[in-house]
Amino acid sequence: MTRVSLSFDNGPDPQVTPFVLDTLAERGIRSTFFVVGERAAEPGAMALVERAHVEGHWIGNHTWTHSVPLGRRTEPDSADAEIGRTQKLVAPVAQHPALFRPFGGGGILNQDLLSEDALRLLCAGGFTCVLWNAIPRDWADPDGWADTALAQIASQPWSLVVLHDLPTGAMRHLPAFLDTLAARGYEIRQDFPPDCLPIVGGTVVRPIDGYVTRH
Ligand SMILES: [Zn+2]
Repeated sequence: MTRVSLSFDNGPDPQVTPFVLDTLAERGIRSTFFVVGERAAEPGAMALVERAHVEGHWIGNHTWTHSVPLGRRTEPDSADAEIGRTQKLVAPVAQHPALFRPFGGGGILNQDLLSEDALRLLCAGGFTCVLWNAIPRDWADPDGWADTALAQIASQPWSLVVLHDLPTGAMRHLPAFLDTLAARGYEIRQDFPPDCLPIVGGTVVRPIDGYVTRH
């Protein structure tokens, strides 16, 4: 059985997030939204995050500014400013244990993802760190990403797919993509493949050195 977990990053967006939520609700699919703090702090935006929560989606933290990967930052408070600040904002609707997805700068899994301070904060705060294993680059290929995603999904037993509820035009293909997953008999799940979770509930459970810059 091929399994698929879906995640939507970088939102909320006032136009695209409601469309994604409608599309998922019509099909009874639950997913995870990794929100960017400064987007969620815009007027009216938290209502979209609350809607996602009420409709059964999990809400995770995807940094405050989504600007410079944490491993490339040198300011002493950057982990709290990026992770802690966002978690405070989404706390009323956030999943437990708290879910954090680092910003990867193009989706690349490497040592830029986390700093030592960020790693300490995630462990002390009891976070689960949620990486990914399927990134069809919907932002760069708004009309071709679904075929890329389908090929990635077919190549492994359980895919955690990163998509973006952003106004790139890519999400207009979401309904057909989801219908293809259903037609192929894939199992769509809300939980995550264990291989994508190096930290669970604040405990490092898989090798983490490849994701942390140590100065
Ligand atoms: Zn992102």
